[in-house]
Amino acid sequence: MSRSVSNLTTIVKEIADEMAQRPDRGEVANYIPELANVHNKRFGLVVVDGAGNVASAGDSEMPFSIQSISKVFTLTLALGLVGDKLWQRVGREPSGSPFNSIVQLEYERGKPRNPFINAGAIAVTDVILSGHQPREALGEILRFMRFVADDPSIAIDESVAASEQRTGFRNIALANYMKSFGVLDNPVNHVLGVYFHHCAIAMSCRQLAMAGRYLAWSGVNPSTGHSAVSAERARRINAVMLTCGHYDGSGEFAFRVGLPGKSGVGGGVLAVAPGKASIAVWSPGLDVHGNSHLGRVALEALSKRMGWSIFGV
Ligand code: GLU
Repeated sequence: MSRSVSNLTTIVKEIADEMAQRPDRGEVANYIPELANVHNKRFGLVVVDGAGNVASAGDSEMPFSIQSISKVFTLTLALGLVGDKLWQRVGREPSGSPFNSIVQLEYERGKPRNPFINAGAIAVTDVILSGHQPREALGEILRFMRFVADDPSIAIDESVAASEQRTGFRNIALANYMKSFGVLDNPVNHVLGVYFHHCAIAMSCRQLAMAGRYLAWSGVNPSTGHSAVSAERARRINAVMLTCGHYDGSGEFAFRVGLPGKSGVGGGVLAVAPGKASIAVWSPGLDVHGNSHLGRVALEALSKRMGWSIFGV
């Protein structure tokens, strides 16, 4: 093992030990009943470098609900389907509003600010669904996740999907509101069915870090050589992750961590250090913006100790 790899392994383990001691763990999401059952003591961290070396600590192999992290992969898929025309359907500006906010939609006549707030991700799901049955669209999303992670075992947690389907009143409102502006082409219940199910994909930190490799290495998985997107597209997806990936906590995440990242209310975060690493962290307790509290603290420590901030050391 090279010195830098053993250094990374040591740092990852140190950070996991430090996080285990912290009393401030945030609050587990409870608006999706199934997510409320997860213990907020859980913590996992995995870093994959360009040579395929993996540094991991904590609950790194335990699957959790990736929730909004799935929006990175659906954005990638939708861009592959319709190219830059996607930006006519959804913007790419930070919203400065909560992830499930409806107010901005009224001012902006149903066009969501960006693909990572719920309204935007629902519009992106509509694009993937067009011309397909919901089951086929979901199959396409799952196939893409398995391809980029190079792991055929990735699956949907049906109990989480059913739980959100029963209680997702705000998302139902958002989708109906967009439909009223003519922004969704497909039936609202089909779009939401696919949306709730892709949010309910379960992955471990290891699988997620593996899946993020195409974003860290200009569209190509450096281990398999498989290309997922062009270098230009990977760069742009990273830009949207940096500016919009943490909802109204995106500025704070950029300030503290300095890496493109996407969070989910399951407590996961996928972050990329371009050309250096793909990183996944999981700690289910959330801050007031719905982002993993210790996930952010751990990534701040990692980025600082490794000198990985894209803004300089
Ligand atoms: N499925 C969740 C919702 O729509 C995703 C939110 C998130 O992870 O931030 O409310």
